[in-house]
Amino acid sequence: MSRITLSKVAKAFGAVKVLHDVDLDIAEGELIVFVGPSGCGKSTLLRLIAGLDQPTTGTISIDGKDVTRVAAADRGLAMVFQSYALYPHMTVRQNLAFGLENARMPRAEIDQRITEAARMLDIAPYLARRPGQLSGGQRQRVAIGRAIVRNPTAFLLDEPLSNLDAELRISTRAELAALHERLSATMIYVTHDQTEAMTLADRIVVLRAGRIEQVGSPLELYNTPTNLFVAGFIGAPR
Ligand code: ADP
Ligand code: MG
Repeated sequence: MSRITLSKVAKAFGAVKVLHDVDLDIAEGELIVFVGPSGCGKSTLLRLIAGLDQPTTGTISIDGKDVTRVAAADRGLAMVFQSYALYPHMTVRQNLAFGLENARMPRAEIDQRITEAARMLDIAPYLARRPGQLSGGQRQRVAIGRAIVRNPTAFLLDEPLSNLDAELRISTRAELAALHERLSATMIYVTHDQTEAMTLADRIVVLRAGRIEQVGSPLELYNTPTNLFVAGFIGAPR
């Protein structure tokens, strides 16, 4: 669990500003969802929190400590990408173990963490397979498993369900919600899918062209959108 605070976070690529002075306080254990149309800056914001890129100006802190210049590996967070990013030549077990082996964790603890994650995600029968021998849904669960075994203080998920078909998206979404309950971990979840946001979120952050339009619970956004963009995006009557 961890609390994450962004103050006046801005990002430009060359002359193009893609994030403008974003202020946001994410509570411990909260499941917060970033929504907004394609290109509005969701992934960029997530990458800045993860430490995969640096803000042009502004600060990011975790549990009160300024981590703006701290390397991704030292932030205690785990990121799950849309494209799985599994190693195709390794078995599922090896994929899960890889980061932990690099961190020189004792074998017994690695095995124990893998066993737990595999049970939680229902992937125990596939540990000896390679990613190419799994379905899309199974692969995505392995990608989530790779985050879980690291025992992170927060999970960052960038459109983790967008490669799944509709039925699998719904079941995997429910599994993620259950996982959030069970781990009581902070989760930052990016999607362009309003239904996903409304179903999962404790709070939703609506982004538009690099700015926060509104932050609130699904019900607040639905009942009292502050402008037409939010109303249109969340799907409330105007
Ligand atoms: P989203 O995830 O909401 O679809 P992104 O955060 O990926 O949006 O992108 C926001 C904007 O920043 C887009 O206009 C995109 O083209 C631009 N952008 C993202 N990454 C880079 C980069 N590395 N270099 C230049 N422009 C980028
Ligand atoms: Mg994106």
